[in-house]
Amino acid sequence: MARKKLIAGNWKMNGLTADGTALAKGIAAEVKALGKPQCEFLVCPPFTLLAAVKKALRGARVALGAQDCHFDAKGAHTGDVSPLMLTDLGCAYVILGHSERRADHGESNELVCKKAEAAHQAGLKTVICIGETLEQRDAGQTIDVCSKQILGSVPETATAADTVIAYEPVWAIGTGKTPTAQDVEDVHAAVRKVLAKKLGRANANKMRILYGGSVKPSNAKEFLSLPDVDGALIGGASLKVEDFMAIAKNSGC
Ligand code: PEP
Repeated sequence: MARKKLIAGNWKMNGLTADGTALAKGIAAEVKALGKPQCEFLVCPPFTLLAAVKKALRGARVALGAQDCHFDAKGAHTGDVSPLMLTDLGCAYVILGHSERRADHGESNELVCKKAEAAHQAGLKTVICIGETLEQRDAGQTIDVCSKQILGSVPETATAADTVIAYEPVWAIGTGKTPTAQDVEDVHAAVRKVLAKKLGRANANKMRILYGGSVKPSNAKEFLSLPDVDGALIGGASLKVEDFMAIAKNSGC
């Protein structure tokens, strides 16, 4: 089953207008230079940079995404941003359930699922994040935790066309530590099995499962050549054009 790899950058809470614009322009130029890239590209800047980055990406095959959304289309939710506001700005994707949101904002599987349903209804594709903490890993609970997150966070109606899963072990995010390639393949294969039970085999076989957690140019090939790894969600290394593009190139894009 051929799944087009997705190389996605999560800029988190980084960048002011000048550097966000420069980063987006740099990525756009490099992706244009690839001609017809073998992979799909996505950048997810903070809300404040979405409009400027959209402009900077003009003409490049790089999709725009946000890092969160509310489940309501509008209303009394101070500080929140709705899925429709994101599509209005030109977003195609939204990241949901990142471990930093689960930890910092107490987001539950149920809430992530509700947000994902609303995002899909508004026409957004979702990147739904899952992953175990170090404590859970040490207790041998990785597959169990990830399976529960999939069952609770992914809508019943999700399809391969509107949903991407990102497996990000919490202890590997921003730490420079990574699981072994075999560990990653084992989790991705297990996640695909759970997806098959929940959404049907056809959907599960087509759905992309990204790996995230300290991906850099030197380890990209090892992870992205695994059979069940369909791309990467990249934090720190997505803030430098050379690193982001080296990850893509080393992954065969
Ligand atoms: C992330 O937060 O999505 C992430 C994978 O970060 P990093 O690449 O910096 O580990």
